[in-house]
Amino acid sequence: MDQEITFEELGLAPEILDAVKAAGYETPSPIQAKAIPALLQGKNLLGTAQTGTGKTAAFALPLLSRIEFNARETSLLVLTPTRELSIQVAEAIQQYAMKLPKVHVVPVYGGQDISVQFKALKRSANIIVATPGRLIDHLKRGSISLDKVQAVVLDEADEMLDMGFMEDVETILSEIPENAQRALFSATMPKEVLEIIDEHLGEYSEARIEGKTTTVENIRQRFLLVKSHDKMEALARVIEGEDFDGMLIFVRTKQATSEVSERLEARGFNVAPLSGDLAQTLRERTINRLKMGKLDIVVATDVAARGIDVDRITHVVNYDIPYDTESYVHRIGRTGRAGRSGNAILFITPRERRLLKTIEKATRQPIEAMALPSAEQISTKRIANFQKKIQDKLTHADLSKFREILMKMTVELGSDIEEVAAAALCLAQEREPLFPKMEELSTPKVRDHGDSGKGGDFDTAERPRKERKEGANGVEEGYLRYYLAVGRRDHVSPRDIVGAIAGEADISSAIIGRIKLFDKFSTVELPDNTDQSVLDILSEMTIRGNDAKFRLMTDDAPPPKDRGFKGKKKFSKEKKPWSKEKPFRETHGDKPFRKTRRFGRV
Ligand code: AMP
Repeated sequence: MDQEITFEELGLAPEILDAVKAAGYETPSPIQAKAIPALLQGKNLLGTAQTGTGKTAAFALPLLSRIEFNARETSLLVLTPTRELSIQVAEAIQQYAMKLPKVHVVPVYGGQDISVQFKALKRSANIIVATPGRLIDHLKRGSISLDKVQAVVLDEADEMLDMGFMEDVETILSEIPENAQRALFSATMPKEVLEIIDEHLGEYSEARIEGKTTTVENIRQRFLLVKSHDKMEALARVIEGEDFDGMLIFVRTKQATSEVSERLEARGFNVAPLSGDLAQTLRERTINRLKMGKLDIVVATDVAARGIDVDRITHVVNYDIPYDTESYVHRIGRTGRAGRSGNAILFITPRERRLLKTIEKATRQPIEAMALPSAEQISTKRIANFQKKIQDKLTHADLSKFREILMKMTVELGSDIEEVAAAALCLAQEREPLFPKMEELSTPKVRDHGDSGKGGDFDTAERPRKERKEGANGVEEGYLRYYLAVGRRDHVSPRDIVGAIAGEADISSAIIGRIKLFDKFSTVELPDNTDQSVLDILSEMTIRGNDAKFRLMTDDAPPPKDRGFKGKKKFSKEKKPWSKEKPFRETHGDKPFRKTRRFGRV
């Protein structure tokens, strides 16, 4: 990273700066360095950035600094495509606002009992982070008013419009005061996003991360798709499975350097943290210990690792994905020094999958998918290590007393010498079992948006939606149909279903197939290779406060007869839940919205 601007220099409010410090952020990410000054000046903003680049703080920090919050008014509105993202963004904003007096952030999303939301909204909602469908519900019911909104943010606009929220977004934007500040973040710029920009963003500044292309030829690059909560377990297995000399693990915050390092230490690894918080002398000592082989693993932030030049580093692990490609290249450049070859391993959570493509493009190198080492592989390694230690004792230790004990035990226990040695081995390995039982970590199956479709755990079978073919029983080829115990009479719309499934299981909305709505139930098609762990999560899902009773529809378990079904003609096979066609739209009730009006240029 060659940008050196600090958070202090950006002009954020002191309370916000305190919160940033408490979060442990050392320097602004590139999108933050570009977006924050523009938003602080009150400009509208177009941000080209995906999840994982620090975009939430990029809009939240300046808007929280700038907006004057009044007790009962909603001053900031953030629109997000999924329930999961709205919760995540609301939590992040709450964290950044923690030093501001009494600013309430309320996430509002489909799938949650609306009455719970009424209560939260009644108390006061200075900031609302909403999915469009549910927000429209609240607007209709009068439980949310957008009259006093000073700024609106469209987060992940491409995903949002891809899910069929275009009309809702337009309706919502037409409810926002004309002079409100606007920001739109999108990873890609499809036609619908451009339309929204054109119609609603007015005059705007741009914040885009330019990725330089670089090559890193002597480094073997791999990625591991892993769920956030499995990252630590996966890291421990990766460390055990790899043949490494020195390892550098990158995390995002100072706190994470000590957290990860402590947890690895507890598992018996020889590891130390390295962050800007440590005194210079301590930092130098840590790097020296790594150089000398007294330390095997260092967990560092970008800033602390800047300039580390240790030939012994054979592996760089990106435990937290970097915000941009430049930083990725800088990080992995800590290995493969002095003409040696190096290894770079990148942890990717499902939501960050798009960054992988960006990195591959910028480095012009494919990143291979890697699998976690199996229990047998780890067992083989542990046995080999154990043998090495025994070899060492055989060569260097005085074993005479132990030999005596062994002989005595053999006689007293009336066992063979092999038996006693085996029992001693069994005892010695108890803390680090030679035959570990390891729980299978579920691999998130995520489809990409289809551009390059590279192997590994990413589903390469992605094809444009229009080309989907119908197979047996009217179910799309490669898909299975599932039953949901909620239907029109529960006021459920396809976007509630998409939102609930994508949000609950943390999967891309793009993999969700056809949805059919009936009066009392609905059906949804999901890829036939959907991971069991995803199905397990979905089996407990609620949609609009109702238990969805999600289950596979089999021939012997037909859906209940639904006499009220009127949708046959409307939901013809070409129509997709995300299509903008009328049958899938909810009407906006009897309180008509003002017709979409254009925002004045700011
Ligand atoms: P986002 O792109 O908003 O989803 O953010 C991705 C992650 O980066 C979140 O876990 C943030 O807490 C973290 N993050 C955001 N900005 C910074 C920063 N300047 N330094 C370190 N971590 C950050």
